[in-house]
Amino acid sequence: ARAWHLMSRPQGLPTDENFALKELDLPPLAAGQVRVRNQWLSVDPYMRGRMNDVKSYVPPFQIDQPMEGGAVGEVVESTAEGFYPGDRVLHMGGWRDEAVLDARTVNKLPDLGAEPQAFLGNLGVTGATAYFGLLEVASAKPGDIVFVSAAAGAVGSAVVQIAKAKGMTVIGSAGGADKCDFVQSLGADQVVDYKAQPILKGLAAAAPEGIDVYFDNVGGDHLDAAFALARMRARFAICGMIEGYNKAEPAAFRFIMRVIAMRIRMQGFIVFDFQSRMDEFYREMGQLIATGQLKSQETVVDGIENMPDAFRGLFSGDNLGKMLVRL
Ligand code: NDP
Repeated sequence: ARAWHLMSRPQGLPTDENFALKELDLPPLAAGQVRVRNQWLSVDPYMRGRMNDVKSYVPPFQIDQPMEGGAVGEVVESTAEGFYPGDRVLHMGGWRDEAVLDARTVNKLPDLGAEPQAFLGNLGVTGATAYFGLLEVASAKPGDIVFVSAAAGAVGSAVVQIAKAKGMTVIGSAGGADKCDFVQSLGADQVVDYKAQPILKGLAAAAPEGIDVYFDNVGGDHLDAAFALARMRARFAICGMIEGYNKAEPAAFRFIMRVIAMRIRMQGFIVFDFQSRMDEFYREMGQLIATGQLKSQETVVDGIENMPDAFRGLFSGDNLGKMLVRL
């Protein structure tokens, strides 16, 4: 088997030197294990945080050790009860072509009639982040004016569509005209191209009455613009701040004091907080997909060799919808 190893900790945007694709000697199966041939590997912005030597909600990747991440594959060998060759499974043994895993850490894909890679996208972490972040963390309600950043990305494009399905007004931001056209095609009422004008100016024009909800994927100037445009008792779901993941210094905020006057409620969250509610999630998302209200967009990069490029592409906006690596 082959696996991508972290060879050194990146300073800023990761370079080729930070990674190496190395042979991995996989052991014979112990009792209760499965061998999985991976078919789809996920690249996600949060992985950048695991490349730093800091304690967070997931431990850092170790130097000269294989990295891990979400993956979907097929069981090829099993010593675990209930798992058989041919089973499609979701697990965290990504960044590699084959994995030996304790069956306890492996989930069989529920039979929802979806493509297997959907469980890395709208039926996986991505969709759950959008669903719980919008409806639970931000308490978004029909009639709310919702602003979502990185709206052409995996989480953002799901937020746009869920918000529209639930009767909200949606303003999405993205970088470039093509991405903005895509966000509009998902049903957004307004789109802001943050590369064509400062986000504050664009958001002020798109939301003359202000915003009730901000779903933050970006941080920095986007978050500052949301402070500036927040209406009374606005709710901010702080999902991610990708703008800062490759920076050593935190962003500065000009409008942060509006938190007080506008009684803004800001809440950070991690999607795993909602793990116990996956049944509800599959039911609700399954319905939105079945009724055509939630479509999945994917950007697929072929070949494990190209995985670091796919990962870096998240920071240059190479992806429309969910970025995936296909083996
Ligand atoms: P995306 O598919 O949204 O990919 C990242 C996108 O971010 C890019 O396509 C790019 O879009 C945009 N982007 C990159 N750099 C910048 C920048 N400097 N300024 C503005 N936009 C930028 O990734 P995901 O959907 O997987 O993740 C979206 C966010 O959600 C991330 O912040 C991630 O960390 C977070 N997240 C949080 C989770 C949680 O549990 N809290 C779980 C999953 C994700 P463009 O071309 O428009 O710039």
